[in-house]
Amino acid sequence: MNAGSELISTLRLPPDRTLSCSQCGIRFVWTGWEQQQAANTPECCPGCRALRLFTQRRRGVVKWYAPQKGYGFITASDGSEVFVHRRALGRLRSLRRGQVLAFRVEPTPSGPQAVDIRRIGRHSQRRRQSQPSTSPPKS
Ligand SMILES: [Zn+2]
Repeated sequence: MNAGSELISTLRLPPDRTLSCSQCGIRFVWTGWEQQQAANTPECCPGCRALRLFTQRRRGVVKWYAPQKGYGFITASDGSEVFVHRRALGRLRSLRRGQVLAFRVEPTPSGPQAVDIRRIGRHSQRRRQSQPSTSPPKS
């Protein structure tokens, strides 16, 4: 029995693959290492994926908010903490710990910040399933 060969077999990675991005069309390398980490073949290049992280609306819970200071933090559903400033609250004016929010993350010189914040509410008592959008958009 050779423990060394066993170790090597677990480190053996699939060969790198070249994929093309469904978003911007560029070709990018999907490394063997990434293939081992990921469950699904990525549709987009790393650039588009990063961009999507910033443009997609995310959900999170208010970790804390200090009204007198005018800022706080939201714990996003992926576990990251996002800074939130009073400026971004709009009509909400203030936040309370434990509130569930939908927001987008915008990169700023001082780090990512939550913007376009909406309150989703607490765990909904009425489970109102949103209907599939078959109706034409209102203009
Ligand atoms: Zn792309």
